[in-house]
Order: sequence, then structure tokens, then C-alpha cells
Amino acid sequence: MTKDDKQKIAEFLDLASEHLSTGYQTSAREYQFCDDVSKEQIDTIEQIAQEIKICRNCQLWEKRTNAAPGEGVLQPLVLVIGEGPGEDEDRQGRPFVGRAGQLLDKMLDSIGLSRKTNCFIANVVKCRPPFNRDPYPEETAACAHYLQRQIALLKPKFILVVGRIAAQTLLKTTEPIIKIHGKFMEFEVGGMKIPLIATYHPAALLRDEGKKRPTWEDLKLLHSKF
Ligand code: URA
Ligand code: SF4
Repeated sequence: MTKDDKQKIAEFLDLASEHLSTGYQTSAREYQFCDDVSKEQIDTIEQIAQEIKICRNCQLWEKRTNAAPGEGVLQPLVLVIGEGPGEDEDRQGRPFVGRAGQLLDKMLDSIGLSRKTNCFIANVVKCRPPFNRDPYPEETAACAHYLQRQIALLKPKFILVVGRIAAQTLLKTTEPIIKIHGKFMEFEVGGMKIPLIATYHPAALLRDEGKKRPTWEDLKLLHSKF
């Protein structure tokens, strides 16, 4: 057995014991956006980021190295929303900077998008779930107000959601991603209605080549609306 295998088994046992002690939840995700956006006037993206960096509103703070609040331009054409930081993101405190992140950047570039010029990239939870497990519903619920405030301030023209967890969380559904992706929906937040489309997560594309074509179709559909 290699050192890597041993590490994986240790991580699995740790995760299993966490599930045994806290229970493994698979229920529909509670993700309440409140209607009170009175904070909007005094918020800035930087202030929200500072709050996130020291946040202890859910248990994910305990094992994080750095929270990844999000990054990109203000008033973006597209706000990209993923699931949560992975190992690289946790290390750097930035969203989508690992292998999946590099692929995401290429996917965005293929339709003229970039976090440097016209996108903002964020996640439904800002701190890394241990061993990249799915965030629990209470964790996405505890973190929801940060994304809500980010959206209210950023006022993106479109929202692109990547992956099952983010899509199910934001759309409050348990439908599989195969049913959710590739169609425009209206996302209501803070009195705004923003066109939203979901697609596959770049990490899923790295595992399964077959997801590349439908993802490309989804991106082309998004691009056709610019
Ligand atoms: N996967 C995500 O969903 N978000 C990140 O920031 C990195 C990987
Ligand atoms: Fe706070 Fe969100 Fe991090 Fe939980 S995941 S500690 S709610 S910033």
C-alpha cells in the first residue's frame, strides 16, 4: 500500500466517523434568502470578505486554513457559483484555483468570460468541507446570507451555477443535475430577478469526458444571451 493509499483510507475513516457522530443528511437543502437587504447600502464586497474570513457561523471554520470569499469584478456580466473550496482553495483563500478551477477558467474563456474582466466567482459555502465532503444543509444555510449580500451588491446580469450541490442548494430542489442543467431559470434575490443557468462541475468533467459535450452546449446557450 502506498503512502497515498494510506492517507486516503485515513481520510475516509475520519469522514465516516464524522458521519457517525453527526449523522449523514440527505434531505432537501434549506437555503433561505431573507428579504431584508437593508444592509446593502453599507456593504461592500471587501467588507463581506472580511466578515467571511473570521466567520464562525458553522462548524466548517474549525478545519479551514483560509476561507475563500470569492473574487472577480464588480457588476459582472456573469456570477459563477460553485460548491465550496477544495484543498488548493483553502490553502490560497481564493475560489477555483486548483485543477477544476483551471478547467473552469478555460470553459469561461471559451465564451469570452474571465474573472479578470467580466466575471465574479463565488461558492455556496466559503470554507472547505473536510476531505471535500458535500456541505451539510445547515452549513449551506448558515453561509447563505453572504452569497445573498454578494449578489445584491454585484448585480450580475447572469448567474452560472456549476455542479449538483450548488444547483440543488440555490434552486431548493433534489432533482438530479441531468434534469436541472441547460435551461434558463429566473433567480429571485433581494427584489431582483436574475437569469440563471446550471451546468456540470468542472471536477465532474475531469472524471467523465462524456460530460464535456452537454456542458459545452450549456455554455453556448448562456453565450447566446449576451
Ligand atoms: N470546487 C468548487 O465548487 N469551488 C471551488 O472554489 C473549487 C472547487
Ligand atoms: Fe461562516 Fe460560511 Fe465559513 Fe460556515 S462556511 S464558517 S457560515 S463563512
